[in-house]
Amino acid sequence: MPRYYVPNSRTTLDLPDGQLLGRIRWGWVEGLLSPGPPPTFKQCDWPWRDRPYSPSSTLTFCRAGCLVCCAASLACWAGYDVDPLVFAEAIAERGAFDGAYLQHPTAVTLAYPRLGWHQVGEAAYWSPRYGCHESSYIDWRERPVDLDLLRSLLAHQPVVVEVDYDPLDPDVDQHFVLAAEYVPDPEGGLNDDLRVMDPMAGMTSVLSYFNPAWLNDWMRRNEITKVMRALTGARVWEVAREPEEILPYTDVVDQMPVNQHPTEPVAWWIRTPDQITGITVHHTMSHDAQATARYCIDVKGRPSIQYHFWVTRDGKPYLCAPLSWGMWHDHCGHENRHVSVGLAGRLHENRPPEVQLQGAARIVAWLMDRYDVALPQVQGHNDRYAGTICPGWDDVDWRGDFYTALNRELG
Ligand SMILES: [Zn+2]
Repeated sequence: MPRYYVPNSRTTLDLPDGQLLGRIRWGWVEGLLSPGPPPTFKQCDWPWRDRPYSPSSTLTFCRAGCLVCCAASLACWAGYDVDPLVFAEAIAERGAFDGAYLQHPTAVTLAYPRLGWHQVGEAAYWSPRYGCHESSYIDWRERPVDLDLLRSLLAHQPVVVEVDYDPLDPDVDQHFVLAAEYVPDPEGGLNDDLRVMDPMAGMTSVLSYFNPAWLNDWMRRNEITKVMRALTGARVWEVAREPEEILPYTDVVDQMPVNQHPTEPVAWWIRTPDQITGITVHHTMSHDAQATARYCIDVKGRPSIQYHFWVTRDGKPYLCAPLSWGMWHDHCGHENRHVSVGLAGRLHENRPPEVQLQGAARIVAWLMDRYDVALPQVQGHNDRYAGTICPGWDDVDWRGDFYTALNRELG
């Protein structure tokens, strides 16, 4: 399940000068929400507008604080509870400023370790357009934007980019905005766009910094899009990504057959993770999950195999069906709230080997932790329905061994 940082509450903060500052707290949310945009920090907003952002300069946020506001917004997006004042003070303490300039961007990393600043070399960004590694200080004044690089960065996070504040005069009047999303030309032409958090204007299009007079034959000939011409550079702090979770099973859902025309029942119930309340242990009678799935589909007319997890004789757990499928498996209805764990074999005739018990206990313990399932809700099929001997643990006496292994896993 993807995880995103989203604004999930709002608090207000009393500042010494009597201003009330609305603050957004960001937190991890697991779900299918799309990632939120970075917060809008406008440099001329109260309470920071008339304050200097650097201790070694008198320039105020409103005059020249665009880069600091962009970086503060990025930090907030990355999960730090900051506003431009808090952010500027923290990076100043780490020595970020020389006078009015944020000259030492690595100070941002020292203050906010999730914002990484790459130097040149292997750690920097590979530019497919120029065939070289770009440092995090990217200069696009003398050459067009490397759109592949920009888009690959934007796929994961907002990026601070430089524009010409007054594109109608010939020199570059440096201004920074935080690019949030690339919008391609729907017709594949030069009319692309970039949604940006502009510390002057708020959330807007970057094309207010594109001079229409630039749209000429040179751009068309060289396929230079408006965004490529509008940006004059980038300052890339890379937001550390959460390490991928290592799951304690092998996911084979895509390899399992499903029944497009089930007769019994018409469809599995689709449930949310919070609707999972328990775990039912089964034996599968077979050592071939594919054959069992075919039997469920062809003979029983069901939508799929009825085990979420299949634990092989050598103790390896395989995820065969999504846990969001509340499938029929233990005579407890079609809106089933249990996860179905099948141990391979005819385990009413032969006890499962120790390694299989351990493998089953490990995946059950992980499920209990993940879905907040209490031990009494880990049951055998025959605890749920007296008319079956499944999983066979009362026939050849391995119920106690299973719970012993489970308690060992639970520590
Ligand atoms: Zn069963």
